[in-house]
Amino acid sequence: MLPLKEKDKAIIQKLLSAGCCARCVLRFCCVTIQAAYRQAQHETLEELKAFITEKESNIVQDSTSQTSTYEHNKSQDAALSETVEDPPRKRAKLVPTQTVQSEPGSAAVVTLRNVESHVCVACLGILQDLCGPDQAVKIAETVKAQNYEFDTMVLSVSLPAQLCVREHSCWLHVKKEVREKGLVLDKDDVIQVKEAFKWVMQGLVTKELGSVAVVSKSPFEVGVEFTHPETESDCHFLAKSCPDCFKPTKNKQSVFTRMAVVKALEKISDARFLQHYPSPPLEPSSSCTPRDIQCLHMSVFIAGRYNKFCRSLPQTPWVIDGERRMESSVEELIAAPILSAFRADGFNFSSSGREDVDVRTLGNGRPFAMELLNPHRSRFSKVETKQLQETINESSDKVRVRDLQIVTREAMNRMKVGEEEKTKTYTALVWTQKAIEKEDITFINDIKDLTLDQKTPLRVLHRRTLAIRQRVIHSMNARYKDSHHFYLGLKTQAGTYIKEFVHGDFGRTKPNLCQLLKTDADILELDVESVDVDWPPPIPE
Ligand code: ZN
Repeated sequence: MLPLKEKDKAIIQKLLSAGCCARCVLRFCCVTIQAAYRQAQHETLEELKAFITEKESNIVQDSTSQTSTYEHNKSQDAALSETVEDPPRKRAKLVPTQTVQSEPGSAAVVTLRNVESHVCVACLGILQDLCGPDQAVKIAETVKAQNYEFDTMVLSVSLPAQLCVREHSCWLHVKKEVREKGLVLDKDDVIQVKEAFKWVMQGLVTKELGSVAVVSKSPFEVGVEFTHPETESDCHFLAKSCPDCFKPTKNKQSVFTRMAVVKALEKISDARFLQHYPSPPLEPSSSCTPRDIQCLHMSVFIAGRYNKFCRSLPQTPWVIDGERRMESSVEELIAAPILSAFRADGFNFSSSGREDVDVRTLGNGRPFAMELLNPHRSRFSKVETKQLQETINESSDKVRVRDLQIVTREAMNRMKVGEEEKTKTYTALVWTQKAIEKEDITFINDIKDLTLDQKTPLRVLHRRTLAIRQRVIHSMNARYKDSHHFYLGLKTQAGTYIKEFVHGDFGRTKPNLCQLLKTDADILELDVESVDVDWPPPIPE
């Protein structure tokens, strides 16, 4: 039962003659009833044929040649009787342009039969054989094989850009007739191929996957892509008409992106379009090619704090000239168990500042967050997250993680906001050339809010721009160890280079401890005692 009106007949007739498939005809009739697209295309075609050849005045109940479909149409028309004002139209049959036959009825049959086996000029086969149970089984099998954990999915469709050109050409072909439907219909009212494809496929895929809902918004996306090399050159004339729509971009292989083509089609006049492109479009010899089905789950973000207990562990893999210098890293020790639990393809690790390879991070630890790319599993209960934290902690004695939790992408930003204003506390083991006096200890303990000018340290100059940065040491305290060693506690603004403050970095940090104590001094050990960032929120043990 197709919701068609008398005024649709002219559109249907024109499009079928032009080589459009049944579903594309429905699209251009602006049929929004999804069920109409779901019925088998040959049935729709039969109905359309019956509809346009029927003469309203001679609907005969007892005719043996009438199909049940026909009856549907009849009742449909009866229901629409108020809107059907036109008298039975003599031209309500196909008027094939090239094959004018002596008997109009037979001409219609001939042309329509051809339509069935032809590749649609508008959708290039996408709404024909590429849109049905077989394709749904293929999609479902691909999804199942990848073993994702999900209960909703979104089906996304990527179409060749030239489809827009063909759509435009078809639209110009029936523009007059569509407008004559009486409503103020525009090109935007034509149902898009993508939309029709989803209306047909979503239900079928749902059926194949069992309890999964195919919806319009979900973190899990299954992408179907179609290409049609044969008609790729359809777009090319647009580049001459609208050169500024087609500027080469870095990541795109071709300038003829869907966006660019749509933009150019909005600009080009009908007359100019018709000068360069046939309306209706020429018939292709083959259908679109479906590409590999792509599954992608939105990133999941996980955050926590880490301690580092080892003086020979870099934060990130340490590779120089393609060669690894240390066998592991904080990042890898934390990431490995998380990646395998979430079955993710990869990760991005970030933290609130970083420590040097020989620096320990003690206290409550350093906040970190990880983006897990394409996780195949995404839901973890609090208990499961806790177990995951245990797994990380049992896997190595070099790092320890606490407050592990799943967070949102937005929440992650809180780790970076105001990072420079935050304070950090450190303990450094300092060596001095001259023997340490009691006065030195008092002198250090009395220093408050000391502003440093730090020229980018020599050791990081290869990765940071040369600048003088002002940093504040809020307070210090010294604890005597022996005559040439003391422990220096520091509370500083984040981003202060502690090692450079102690040894002076050849005068690049001013003032420095050597200047202050009037002796040569060096730093032997450094520990981060606390990173005062109140994110992520603590999780009670
Ligand atoms: Zn079509």
